[in-house]
Amino acid sequence: MRILYVLIFFVSVNTCLSQKNRCSTDEYRAQLGVFKTTETNHTIDLDIANINEHTIPVVVHILYNDASQNISDERVYSQIESLNNDYNALNSEINNIPDQFIDEIGQVGFNFCLVQQDPNGNSFSGINRVYTDVESFQGFSDSMKKSNEGGVDPWDTETHLNIWVCNLSGNTLGFATMPGDVSDELDGVVIDYLYFGIDISFISPYNLGRTATHEIGHYFNLEHTFYAGCSDWDECDDTPPTSSPTYGCPSYPQTSCMTNTMTMNFMDYTDDQCMAMFTQCQAQRMRNCLLNNRSGLINNYSCTTSIEESYLSSNSFYPNPASNFLNIKESHVFVEIFDVMGRKIIELKANQRGQINISKLNCGTYFLKLQNKTKQFIKI
Ligand SMILES: [Zn+2]
Repeated sequence: MRILYVLIFFVSVNTCLSQKNRCSTDEYRAQLGVFKTTETNHTIDLDIANINEHTIPVVVHILYNDASQNISDERVYSQIESLNNDYNALNSEINNIPDQFIDEIGQVGFNFCLVQQDPNGNSFSGINRVYTDVESFQGFSDSMKKSNEGGVDPWDTETHLNIWVCNLSGNTLGFATMPGDVSDELDGVVIDYLYFGIDISFISPYNLGRTATHEIGHYFNLEHTFYAGCSDWDECDDTPPTSSPTYGCPSYPQTSCMTNTMTMNFMDYTDDQCMAMFTQCQAQRMRNCLLNNRSGLINNYSCTTSIEESYLSSNSFYPNPASNFLNIKESHVFVEIFDVMGRKIIELKANQRGQINISKLNCGTYFLKLQNKTKQFIKI
């Protein structure tokens, strides 16, 4: 009987999870009556060597009705770090891309940064916390963007990527506005608070911050890889045509439209731990969008952190991937190791040289938790 209860539990959990709508951007656009990508002007000759120089200034509006919705600064920081990894092909899962697609991996070269000034020029954290009487906002509505409807008005959308983090009803994880689709005061990205940032204590396929990676892809003019099915209208030849979204975490290869599907693309619908790459065309398309459609972002100088600075300062250990030891710079402290499902695997103590011995771990992706900071690493 106990086994039966366990089975029922897992079936019901899976049923709940399968009801989640990975992304509501297409529904949002249909509501607007928009069905086709905004064409970008391709006349700007991009200097590929300088792709790392684009800083994206971000303000995160956290709309909360109770304490659980008022997510921590750490969660926000983990999201920014995750974005910077994903948009620079520094994410650990990039090592698992099948040989067939390795040459297609694109480095977007965006460095997301929390703005360090408010609209009045005062020093600011980049995290705008606002209490709301609204218990939940209807999925892919615009109420969270309007102060007179319980939301918060955006900061200048020409010069900021506005991200609203709030409680969304209707099983929506998030949605975004594509360039030119809406008026300025509605422009930006909306993410349900449960799926913003990395939270490995949250048992969900969407706990690694990839909802924001995906939605910001739309914000910079990317379509879903399965857009228009086998007709392949996502405007990128290096994403194979795909008849429909892929869910879960499928093994390679999966076939669709008589070719192998790039299920690990950030613009498909797979679980967070199973999406890993943008293509070169997608990266180019986003850079074109930045330079042509969203160039005001480049003129916001309230972010000054380089990719290298933010990456080095936010990573509390090295190397990654690692085979035998992780150097955490602190001696005789305990760290906890979790697997990708959030299960605690082991607790390890650093030696006097600040090294953690991970030689006995099986190869794979893990999380190291040290002093309330959680970082991803790969054991090879
Ligand atoms: Zn989407």
